[in-house]
Amino acid sequence: MGYTTLLFDLDGTIMDFEAAQYHSFFDTFAHFSIKADEAMHNRYDAFNSSLWQQLEHGEITRKQLFEQRFPRFLQSEGITGIDPDELQKQYFKGLSESCVMMDGARELLQSLYGKYQLCIITNGVASTQRKRLIDSGINDLFSYLIISEEIGFEKPDHRYFEAVKKVCHIDDPKTALVIGDSLNADIFGGASFGFDTCWYNPQNKAFNGKAAPTYTVTSLSDLHKIV
Ligand SMILES: [Mg+2]
Repeated sequence: MGYTTLLFDLDGTIMDFEAAQYHSFFDTFAHFSIKADEAMHNRYDAFNSSLWQQLEHGEITRKQLFEQRFPRFLQSEGITGIDPDELQKQYFKGLSESCVMMDGARELLQSLYGKYQLCIITNGVASTQRKRLIDSGINDLFSYLIISEEIGFEKPDHRYFEAVKKVCHIDDPKTALVIGDSLNADIFGGASFGFDTCWYNPQNKAFNGKAAPTYTVTSLSDLHKIV
């Protein structure tokens, strides 16, 4: 309570990144005249998630993730004759063109705008994230976008949150609330730094994190009960 700044994660919290990834995956392979099916998408999804988890845990770098992702996936699928770099470029293009929002996100942000300093805290590719916010028409609601690629550190790294505090001019961490769907990146990261946190858990998953969230909500509109 008594918050003046709300720090929103983007993917899986404000924007439906799963929908973006899903559509871009099929569009990208279609662009290269390869018919992808659900099973192939599921294999990619599992592989991609494991890479992002390794990045969150500091086991690989962002550069390694993007360098290895498509070459390794194409190899595992036995697909040859496609330049993985071109594939990745096309995939990013698809992602940046997707602006499906999570249920209630637009209404929530519009109702909070003007009452709080709203900021985005995201692990992601800067050009993709900026374009999606602009295309969704919500970019102007945010005072600052703190994108890990530009900061040089990922959530939950302490140094990422140090940058958030500085960029958003947060003197006392207790005046800011982190809202996100990742127990590691958002909740553990934010709590370790001294921020209160709100776990957005739309699928009602069991808690299995390293730091307990201050609040948990299953719908974004429930945030009105907290702030
Ligand atoms: Mg997220």
